[in-house]
Amino acid sequence: MSQRKKVHYFYHRDVGNYEYAFGHPMKPLRIRMANELIKSYGFDQKMEIYTPKKCSQLEMTKFHSDEYIKFLKSVTPQTQNLYPIQMTRFNVGDDSPIFNGLFDFCRISAGGSIDGAERLNKKKTEIAINWAGGLHHAKSSEASGFCYVNDIVLGILELLKYHPRVLYIDIDIHHGDGVEEAFLLTDRVMTCSFHKYGYGYFPGTGNIKDIGLEKGKKYSVNFPLDDGMDDESYVEIFKKTINAVMKYYQPSAIVLQCGADSLAGDRLGCFNLTLKGHGKCVSYIRSFNKPLLVLGGGGYTMKNVSRCWAYETSLLIDEEELPNQLPLHYYYDYYCPDYHLHLEPSSMANKNELKDLDKQYQEIYENLRDIIFVPSVGNRTRPQDFYDKEYKVQTDQYINEKSDFRFTEKDLNTQIDPINEFYQSSIYKSRKKLWTPKKPTEKSQFFDLQSIDRFNIFKKHLFDNYNSISGQEKELGKIFKKKRK
Ligand SMILES: [Zn+2]
Repeated sequence: MSQRKKVHYFYHRDVGNYEYAFGHPMKPLRIRMANELIKSYGFDQKMEIYTPKKCSQLEMTKFHSDEYIKFLKSVTPQTQNLYPIQMTRFNVGDDSPIFNGLFDFCRISAGGSIDGAERLNKKKTEIAINWAGGLHHAKSSEASGFCYVNDIVLGILELLKYHPRVLYIDIDIHHGDGVEEAFLLTDRVMTCSFHKYGYGYFPGTGNIKDIGLEKGKKYSVNFPLDDGMDDESYVEIFKKTINAVMKYYQPSAIVLQCGADSLAGDRLGCFNLTLKGHGKCVSYIRSFNKPLLVLGGGGYTMKNVSRCWAYETSLLIDEEELPNQLPLHYYYDYYCPDYHLHLEPSSMANKNELKDLDKQYQEIYENLRDIIFVPSVGNRTRPQDFYDKEYKVQTDQYINEKSDFRFTEKDLNTQIDPINEFYQSSIYKSRKKLWTPKKPTEKSQFFDLQSIDRFNIFKKHLFDNYNSISGQEKELGKIFKKKRK
């Protein structure tokens, strides 16, 4: 029998107003629908509800490049034609279109995840929920798969200020490539993704052999899966893998991305999970009693996304089993014809054979057994918290955002960022599209030139900072060459 925990829930009332593009499968309205369902069940009485503080431009550049964030801030649907080079370079326009309020949407999504992490750090709560977060594909200098600003990486960076080891778990149907790439070289974050892999499925990364690099080698865990995963096999491999991860890594905090596109009947997905299977993974993670940041993610059949996240909220607050009949509320009509909470699995075949799943689990287990038991952090200066009321603003560089500003220039000059805390590169550049695959255009060539430039800048950065990059450079260079072929 589990116990009630303190839960903080982050929701911004504007989040459902944004629209990517007409007919685009990513619909922020699903977050408002989930929130309305959550309220209609009365769960808002059992958690503390917060409007997230909007993430500042400066805070975003803790992971993203200055120029990319400046571009996101300044571009509008009306002015995007003036920036053809940046549109290509930053990979916006197709899957990830420029829409009205884009930057504000990113600020809300990222702000909720960082705020949640900050409250977990201060032990103000045991679980923080931000269904507007979980945008796991965004890279340091490029949008990808409907994601622009990687709230997860920013949230984990916040947790790392207090926690020696953070575990990131991803149950979206797509590989959590942006987060894995960001923490590829560190042992302070273990990423663990369960996803559909192969046959050109987006984003194309997440092979079982991709296990991280250098100090981060064996700290990336990938469980590639085929179509039709059902509750029984998914929950089994999930529990076995996480059990081994917890045993050998012993994280002090966990971030769980609950992408709902792994559910049956998703517009872009091909798994066959029900809310009960998906939710069992959430309950299992909750049972470890670690500070837990729970985030949204993908999910393109809106009514199933809201069902899923409302149901998982009930599990996180340890609510009794919910009746299958949905309560009357503002979006009730969206749930026709059955108006039920739970989903029925479809008749699709499960292409994942038990013996193959077991073989993959064994391979992952062998890698985990090899990791250095409970890596430590060592002494270092802790960076300033994201949110600190007493903090005075003394710079006018970002004067128009000073209400969100948390660092003085002096701090920025003296702050010690741990080596290899995160990794910025375009090596794992996603070349596939999630929504409307397109043939390569002339622009692609330019894209590659940009990649080389940025790779060289990255190498120079390593060289300037650490003097020796021999082993790492060789390893990265090899991958880079392979990807370029
Ligand atoms: Zn997804």
